[in-house]
Amino acid sequence: MTRCGTLRTAPACGSHSWPPPAVMKLFRRFADSADRPCSVSSARSAALTWSSALSALTSIPRLDRLTFLPWRDVISQNGLPIVSKGQFCPQCLAEDQAAGHAPYFRLTWELKTVSVCPRHRVRLSQHCPCCGKDNVRHAAALVVPGWCTKCGAFLGGQTRAAEPEMAIEAVELWRARQVYELVRVQQSVEQAPSRDMLVATIEHIIGEMDGGQATRFAGRVGLSKGTVHYWLKSDKTPTLDASLAVASQSGIGLSRLLTGQSQGWTPPTQGQQLALTLFKPECRSKSPARTIDWEEVDRQLQKFLHQPNPVSVREVSRQLGIEVRQLYLRDNQTTRQIGQRWLAYLRRRKVANLQEAIPHLESAGKEVLMAGKSLNLREMKARLPHEVTQSIQGFYGVLKDVRLRLVGESPEHHKISV
Ligand SMILES: [Zn+2]
Ligand SMILES: [Zn+2]
Repeated sequence: MTRCGTLRTAPACGSHSWPPPAVMKLFRRFADSADRPCSVSSARSAALTWSSALSALTSIPRLDRLTFLPWRDVISQNGLPIVSKGQFCPQCLAEDQAAGHAPYFRLTWELKTVSVCPRHRVRLSQHCPCCGKDNVRHAAALVVPGWCTKCGAFLGGQTRAAEPEMAIEAVELWRARQVYELVRVQQSVEQAPSRDMLVATIEHIIGEMDGGQATRFAGRVGLSKGTVHYWLKSDKTPTLDASLAVASQSGIGLSRLLTGQSQGWTPPTQGQQLALTLFKPECRSKSPARTIDWEEVDRQLQKFLHQPNPVSVREVSRQLGIEVRQLYLRDNQTTRQIGQRWLAYLRRRKVANLQEAIPHLESAGKEVLMAGKSLNLREMKARLPHEVTQSIQGFYGVLKDVRLRLVGESPEHHKISV
């Protein structure tokens, strides 16, 4: 679950153990279930179970509003693509921290549909700025929102070596804005939007724009006529992408479409329609399979391999829009070389970070000992610059080394503990 407003589920002070046994039972059940942890933010049943249970345990009402549950009747269950590896806007997290409150993951970052932060106009990141690993949010039993689950660094920190980044396209920004608006609206929506209202709104749009001809409208929004037909004539619900297509081509906007607010909406003028074609998705029925120019892919792989900044295979896959598995199948050698180069770079960066940090660590350690205090993590961190603390991986191991060095240098100080 992701926080949109302020949600704190930390233990209250007292003798009760945390998490309570009931929560632990739920955790175990959830871990055993087929649902992936990330789907807790979705509109599936796991989200309902979790939000209801947490509401009951924390006495915070309506936690379902922190998931996509309010939209479960108007977005089909399989039509809400949730990211499998966490993505985040480093600048949003940094802003949270600068404002003095706990950083939190935005619900909008959970969706594959959202690839950029409309507030900061930056691409969402999947990699920790310090250790460069991905999946730094989900892959741990204990997650402190805003900090890397692999190395502990702050995810809102500066990236040491800038990864090559694709320019942000207007359509990405538009999509992200639509979803951000949707999440904003869901905080205040009184009644869960219903499928009937959505279908009535779509019918109204088809009537105004295409004289009630569903086939013509389907072509206009880049969907197959069967898809639109099933919305109108059976109980099928549009996917998020399909609703975005309707919202973009009619100009009504996603939140108004899904909440059935068609009052005041008028069909776009000819000129506006021209601009809207920018966002028109390709019709799936006409282009069933994407043809990949493999020679171009080979050329791009070579380019990635030889560019000055090493890059991960996952990032290459993201930029080329080709699955990692396909890259390995097509050009195993080059893809492996790209991966090895990235790993070597991460190792170098770890060593370099440590080299840079050693003088700071030694002087902080000496200060701690001079003050007659224990050489522990808390005392060290209190004396180290923030960016040094952030850059070190495996702090406990490093602290042991520092202790060894300093004990050798100053045997009179024995008040040491890790
Ligand atoms: Zn941001
Ligand atoms: Zn990290």
